[in-house]
Order: sequence, then structure tokens, then C-alpha cells
Amino acid sequence: MSTVYYSPLKNKPSVSPLSKISKLLVRAGAKDIYERGNIVALKVHFGEFGNTAFLRPIYLRPAIELLKNYGAKPYLTDTNTLYTGMRINSVDHIHNANLNGFGYSTLQTPIIVADGLRGEEMRETPVPGGQLIKHAKLATGILNADALLVITHFKGHDFTGFGGSIKNLSMGCAARAGKLAMHSVSRPCVNPHKCTACGRCKSVCQANAIKISHTAAITEECTGCVRCVGACPEEAISPKFDNSIENLQKMLTEYAAAVLAAFEKPVICLNILMSMVPSCDCMPGNDEPAVKDLGFMASTDPVALDRASLDLIMHNCGGENPFAAISGVSGETQFSHAEAIGLGNSKYKLEKID
Ligand code: SF4
Ligand code: SF4
Repeated sequence: MSTVYYSPLKNKPSVSPLSKISKLLVRAGAKDIYERGNIVALKVHFGEFGNTAFLRPIYLRPAIELLKNYGAKPYLTDTNTLYTGMRINSVDHIHNANLNGFGYSTLQTPIIVADGLRGEEMRETPVPGGQLIKHAKLATGILNADALLVITHFKGHDFTGFGGSIKNLSMGCAARAGKLAMHSVSRPCVNPHKCTACGRCKSVCQANAIKISHTAAITEECTGCVRCVGACPEEAISPKFDNSIENLQKMLTEYAAAVLAAFEKPVICLNILMSMVPSCDCMPGNDEPAVKDLGFMASTDPVALDRASLDLIMHNCGGENPFAAISGVSGETQFSHAEAIGLGNSKYKLEKID
């Protein structure tokens, strides 16, 4: 059984909710994990521009201050997206993060997009207990850190039921090729109506898998590295999101296992249970929250943490999963497969901290 630390939002007006985040991190063992001189990846999601439900930068301050007090050197990090938008390359991604308030002037912490300029910087990393995959394609800018702290805005998700720490560890730490491997069972495809036959995709393709005539065409030699997606100035190349919902959830847990195994010390995960809308922060907009704001939870077991978070949400919704009621996806496969591969434990002890 794993321990999950929980601090409810219900509060005296004289007490800042931010102080609760510091207490949770300390209780979860931060002092023994984040040592003096360590470069610490603080994995977040900057939110797609236009979305207003994403993690508010203010919630990062307690974690940043704590890490700096320990003498560690945190940086904020995320990975480039598989699809087109404001986070498809590092330049646009950092601009997007600044527009959403994650600027150096606000948080005094640098941003490093972990998979390089166009999502190409990755290392294949073993998946302990993997049943679907033996190696995960992870972003080097996270793997090369001395330690990892994951802060997640918990919310619903159209494909995975919910987006919690398991998803932030897995999809969030994967390079673009890893994201493709989880989402898709086929090659990317070219939209002939957008393609201008400029040839940039062909010049970055190391598998010689792109032929150009009137438009670009991707051939069977494609290895799924997805460099071409980031290289296309017309946003003409896109992946197919055709993996099954069940397999996608299983692969999330296998990627999360690879990330945890890559670090010598435990990884603390913190879930922010606020503005819990039905869809992902990757969307350029958002619906109203599906449940009231509840507070903060932390654990070194992401499975126990996400289970406890979802249980608390359901408890506040008359026993129903409010995200599943909208998306039709329960997300339960994340828990069952995580336990099957030994990623963590769905059984937990909740320790309340005021
Ligand atoms: S980079 Fe884009 S526009 Fe240029 S040839 Fe390739 S698909 Fe077409
Ligand atoms: S995904 Fe990679 S291998 Fe496939 S066509 Fe694009 S650049 Fe080439």
C-alpha cells in the first residue's frame, strides 16, 4: 500500500493554499531527493494558448522555492507536441509558455523544452515489466536531469479518461516519436491540399522515406521518428490518432515506468485538483469544470496518487466519474495495467495535511 498526502483546499482565509503545497512536498520526502547542486527537471504542462484551465504558474512557486532552498537548480520543462499548434517546436513552445505566464520574470526559473528544437532529441530507455514495448522514446532534456519533480493539473481527457501524473510522466516526458508510438499504429500522412512540395520534410528524413513529386508522399521506409512533422512550414504532415483507447492507456503506464526507472531517486508527483475541466490542457479552449476545486495531493507512487485523486473527485460527484460521463472513457485501464506491470499500487493510505 502506498501513501498519498492530501491537503484540502478548504481553508481559513489567513492561510495561503501555497503553503500547503510546500508541506505536501516536504512530507513526500523532498529533502532526501532534491540535493544541493542537483539540476532538477520540474515537469509541467504550459497549456495551449487560448486554454484558461491549465496549471496556474503561481502553484509552481512553493516547489521552486523549496528546491532552491535545498540548493538544487530547477528548470521548468515540457516536450513538443505531436500535432500542430503553439507547442510544436521549442521556439513557439517557449513563446506560448510566456504568453501563459510562465516567464522568467515571474518564476525566476528557466524553461528548457526537453526534446530539442523540433522534438528530435530522444533516447530509447528500457521499460521495466513492459508488455507492449521494451523501450520508450524519452526526451533527453528530462532524462539528463539529476532528479525529477512532476506537477500536474488533474483533469479529464477525451482519449485516456483522465489526465493525471501517469500521463504527465509518460506522454509528457516522451519525445515526439514516443508520442507517435503511443497514439498511432500507422505512418504520418501528408495533406496534399496544404503541401507546397518545398522538400523540407525530405531533407530532415533520415530514413529516406519521403518522395516529392507534385506533393510529398511518405513511403513504407518510414520509421516513425516524426521529424518531418516539426519541419513542415505548412503544417501539412500530421499523425493519425488510430491506436485503440485501451492500448493507449496501457502504453501510458509503460512509458511512465520507463521514466521512473531512469532516475536513481524517487520522483515526487503533485496533483493540483483545481479547475478540473473535462478535456486536456492541450486544447486551445476549455469547458467549465466538471467538479469543484478540491486541493492538492502528492506521492512518490503516481498510480496511488491518480487513484486517490479520481476517488476524491468521484466522492464529490455522488460516486460517479464526471469525466467518464462526458468522454465515455473511464481511464480504469491506466490503473489495471499499471498494477500489472508493477508501476505502482492502486491501494493507498490517505494522510491528510492541513
Ligand atoms: S515540408 Fe510540408 S510543404 Fe514541404 S514538401 Fe514536406 S509536406 Fe510538403
Ligand atoms: S516520420 Fe521520420 S522516417 Fe517517417 S517520413 Fe517523417 S521524417 Fe521520415
